[in-house]
Amino acid sequence: MAICWAAWAASLVYRDYAAWLYYWAGRYDQMMNPYGVDPDAPEPSAEDRAFHESLFIADLHADTLNWARDPLERSLFGHVDVPRLLDGNVALQVFSIVTRSPVVLPWMNCVTPHAPDRAALLALLHGRPVFDVRDRAFARIERFIEASARSLVVEGPELRLIRTADDLERLVDDRLAGQDVVGGILAVEGAHWIAADAEPEEVQREVQDLYDAGVRLFAPVHRFDNGLAGSNEGCERYGLTPQGRVALREAEALGMVVDLAHLSQAGIREALDLLEEPFTVSHTGIRAECEPPCRQARNLSDEELEMIVQAGGLVGVGFWPQAVGPSVWRIVEIMAYIGEIAESLNLPRSRYTAFGSDYDGSVAPLVEVGHLSVLTAIMRRHTPPMTPDGIRDVAGRNTCRLFAQVLPGGSPARAAEICDRAASATIFIRPPEEKDGEERLPLLPGGAEGVEATEQVDPEEEE
Ligand SMILES: [Zn+2]
Repeated sequence: MAICWAAWAASLVYRDYAAWLYYWAGRYDQMMNPYGVDPDAPEPSAEDRAFHESLFIADLHADTLNWARDPLERSLFGHVDVPRLLDGNVALQVFSIVTRSPVVLPWMNCVTPHAPDRAALLALLHGRPVFDVRDRAFARIERFIEASARSLVVEGPELRLIRTADDLERLVDDRLAGQDVVGGILAVEGAHWIAADAEPEEVQREVQDLYDAGVRLFAPVHRFDNGLAGSNEGCERYGLTPQGRVALREAEALGMVVDLAHLSQAGIREALDLLEEPFTVSHTGIRAECEPPCRQARNLSDEELEMIVQAGGLVGVGFWPQAVGPSVWRIVEIMAYIGEIAESLNLPRSRYTAFGSDYDGSVAPLVEVGHLSVLTAIMRRHTPPMTPDGIRDVAGRNTCRLFAQVLPGGSPARAAEICDRAASATIFIRPPEEKDGEERLPLLPGGAEGVEATEQVDPEEEE
């Protein structure tokens, strides 16, 4: 009898404990993922919004899977979930998996291997694997796969895992047909569990396991130096290790996109020599004109940008103040700056930048995912304004091309075909919700640049 009572009491304590953990996980999420405010953010016009609705929008980085929120449910806090992605007309979202994340204490000027690990704390709060970094990664992959499968059986929009160029093509066609579907690409940000003394076969097997689980974007490091390479915030900042070289080669061979975000300068140089396929630096800022709270160390120098652009890399510009500075306008200025670098190298202006928001990355982005039309408005108002075709590139066509070229079944020809189609939408508009007394803005033929019913953009001319 006493044992029964004890078991009952223990179950009560455990239930409360679990509820408390869940409660604090939510509070922590709310605290870590607010939105920044820029009073100079423009109000998009009707034309801006109409043009925005015609774009194929893709984002190269969000850490949503770190948190306990259900990606299918609209949340009152945090940044990304499927309903809000649809509000922002986002077609393709990269969901990255962080396995170790340092708490940088005020007296540290670099991230030591023993810095406290926030990812472990979060794992504890969420009741996920705490001690094994590899298990943490795979637990998050499973969460995404579960949500994606559930989106097919519950009412509401679909969250679809994109693994091949065929998947991407189907996503483009379904969105053009007006279906409520968001494509998700799984990414690893820091393969910290691959040991510095791992044999090449072991490294290959680990990369293969990630590939088999559905991961298609591979970033060797995060903020800690690890067995594959040095981080740009690590204390040693070394280049690629032999294991790192094996991992990047294997990722490319399998049809994964390589992501050089967070990599040390030495690592970037060495990776540029090694890589054969198009790649990305998925979420970053630039060092030029980096005003506080923008942080130089985390960002790319002009020299690095030149090397990356020349090598055909795609730079995802971050939306948060430590990457870009205090104003939402800076996001577009940085895109224009990178465009100038490309032009100085006789390359097309708009081909090398993309969105790399870092939503849900413990940052305060300057634009909400549901209000991305603000960025479209800024791109159209920037001096000199971006061309409609240039905006289509930056907002999603470049990211589409990257994946349609590198993923299994992809090629440059397919990338052009799939992504030009993605960006050719005249109007992608979900059936408007009829609201009493609120008139829908008419789309006048030829009213907004790029919104004409049968738009014919000559890319030669638009560039
Ligand atoms: Zn990151």
